[in-house]
Amino acid sequence: MQHTIKPEEHGALGAPMAHAVEACVHCGFCLAACPTYQEFGQEMDSPRGRIVLMKQVLEGTLPWADAQPHVDRCLGCLSCEPACPSGVPYRDLISPFRARMEEEKQAVRTPGETLRRWLAGLTIPYPGRFRLALAGAKIGRALGGLVPAVLRPMLTLAPKSVPAAVKLQAVYPAQGERRARVALLAGCAQQVLDPDINVATIEVLARNGVEVIVPKAQGCCGGLSWHTGNLASAQAFARKNLEAFPADVDAILTNAAGCGSALHEYPLILRGTADEARAKEFGRRVMDVSVFLTKIGLREKPRGLGAMAGAGAKATLKVAYHDACHLANAQGVREQPRALLRAIPGVEVCELANAHLCCGSAGTYNLDQPETAHSLGAQKAQAALAALGGGEGVVASGNIGCLTQLRVHLEKIGSPVRVRHTMQVLRDAYEKPPGI
Ligand code: SF4
Ligand code: SF4
Repeated sequence: MQHTIKPEEHGALGAPMAHAVEACVHCGFCLAACPTYQEFGQEMDSPRGRIVLMKQVLEGTLPWADAQPHVDRCLGCLSCEPACPSGVPYRDLISPFRARMEEEKQAVRTPGETLRRWLAGLTIPYPGRFRLALAGAKIGRALGGLVPAVLRPMLTLAPKSVPAAVKLQAVYPAQGERRARVALLAGCAQQVLDPDINVATIEVLARNGVEVIVPKAQGCCGGLSWHTGNLASAQAFARKNLEAFPADVDAILTNAAGCGSALHEYPLILRGTADEARAKEFGRRVMDVSVFLTKIGLREKPRGLGAMAGAGAKATLKVAYHDACHLANAQGVREQPRALLRAIPGVEVCELANAHLCCGSAGTYNLDQPETAHSLGAQKAQAALAALGGGEGVVASGNIGCLTQLRVHLEKIGSPVRVRHTMQVLRDAYEKPPGI
């Protein structure tokens, strides 16, 4: 697409943004892949429409206020990237653009929205504060209508109870002969909402001969800050992790798609700074745990349905696998989690219709755009149930945001279907069935 953007006027992120605009040939192949185009049915809420809007704002021919509602509605799911025959790197445009608008203080927010964003940034990236905030949400729920409307989505989404905190050790030795040594990003919201995911991940790795270290000095991946336009905060988190993770490990592993995707984006986040080269080197070692396990191969074969087998259990279990956008679209990881699930005797992996569509969780999207997030979440829950044939089974995914969203929407329709991380399904498959 032709443009008159002057990259040098937009800082270190100007060139990638201009390049993304240039690469778009306006063909429209991405429209069908975009969940917000499906929801709103208008060009300005499609990838192609947003690229034009952002181009015009960067050129100075369109006020940001006119583009903002449509850019704010973008989930950042990147479903448009694999759908694009011209290889438009949409990720190089959307988050840098948001950062640029926040930097220029062009973004128009109501005081309520500003407060909600501030609260989310102040709590979610810090497990201790997040746990406290969820406890505070109970009080908020009791206050009901006295809570400002803009904060109510936070209360609706806050789980009524969270599991006890799990303090992770610094090192978990490999079982048997050591095959590899890795460092694990523990995630921030995940540690609070479902700490068992890290426990399961570590157990699966250890059983397969992998020593796991959990660097103490690590922090949030910075994804939340980056996707909401807070570049300075994203850079600070990125630098903290560059320091915290050691060089003498075979890989840096993540088990949350959103976090993994953010770690891969450190070179863009730190572009033009003294840390850019270090970020590139770091990014080369980052891998989703499913990719790493597929690469080294499962040394210990899963024994069967194991702990997933309930009383009167059947010989097979249907597992509907949901592609987290930041695993499938952002990191190109689709086959590896499915292969791990298929390695479990008795598991039948089922596919969801419209698997490319985001579940609506998308970081803080379900706080910022609750109606759209709700609609997408409800559709995803129905698709999961349909994939399972309406009966019992498990929905598996590799991202805490998706798991939470699916849980909320399946509960809403009274479904007994369990929602589990891929590593939890695998860990359970190593356990003895109950009563044996
Ligand atoms: S990132 Fe997702 S919501 Fe945003 S334009 Fe692309 S497909 Fe649409
Ligand atoms: S598919 Fe790619 S090139 Fe075509 S309009 Fe969408 S982003 Fe542009």
